[in-house]
Amino acid sequence: MRWAVIAALIAFVILAALGGAALIIVAAHVPIAANRPSAYNDALARKILSCRNVLFVGAHPDDIEFYCSGLIVSLKRRGSQVTFAVGTRGGKGRQGKAKQRLENLRSHHQLDAARVLGGVDVVLFDYPDKDLSSRVEEFAAKLRQLIAQRKPDMIVAWDPHHIYNPHPDHIAAARAAEMAVNVVSCAICYYGTTQPNLWLGFEDDVFRVKLKAIRAHRTEVPWFLYPFAKRFLTKKDKTEGAKIGAAYAETYRCPNSE
Ligand SMILES: [Zn+2]
Repeated sequence: MRWAVIAALIAFVILAALGGAALIIVAAHVPIAANRPSAYNDALARKILSCRNVLFVGAHPDDIEFYCSGLIVSLKRRGSQVTFAVGTRGGKGRQGKAKQRLENLRSHHQLDAARVLGGVDVVLFDYPDKDLSSRVEEFAAKLRQLIAQRKPDMIVAWDPHHIYNPHPDHIAAARAAEMAVNVVSCAICYYGTTQPNLWLGFEDDVFRVKLKAIRAHRTEVPWFLYPFAKRFLTKKDKTEGAKIGAAYAETYRCPNSE
């Protein structure tokens, strides 16, 4: 009787282990299989990458690089023109000389990052960091002028409706871009979104350029913080990449492309 109980227990353990392994195999397989690149994602990615003249809108120097460097490098390698419109110079609400010094540094670092990304044209505005929300309409008017001059075929901005990082300046930049685009009726995609419908994949060579662009922002991401930024971005972009079978991916919401 005792042996029968032990034999039953051993059989149970073996079956449980086999069942567990089977479950692990299924669990590991299903999400990947469910997220293999769809024809829809491929077609949308091709459409976005075929844009010849793209305007990116951010609130602070470094916003755009964190979320969009993979797309920017991919566009530049295809010969597209890329412009950044950045609402503030990143003075962080400081006053006097301290503000000027920080703004000069961050402006320089923004230009360095733009070079790293393959030659992005940068337009920096002087709206107050930490208080961009008080100047949304002015920023929108400036964006409308910029759009009229440069005639981009695509605008990429913070998501005004499903924002991932709801800093008040980010929300203000999102609203300004949305107001500008509503008037000129230009195509728009959003970065920093919690509701993506586009996974833009890229490989290691592009990701290395992205990290270099982040590193160019030496005041915002100093040497002792860079390893954390690198780890965060690597995990985030690899996780999204796995969903479409690419090494890395960035996510966007392109509302009019459904
Ligand atoms: Zn920011």
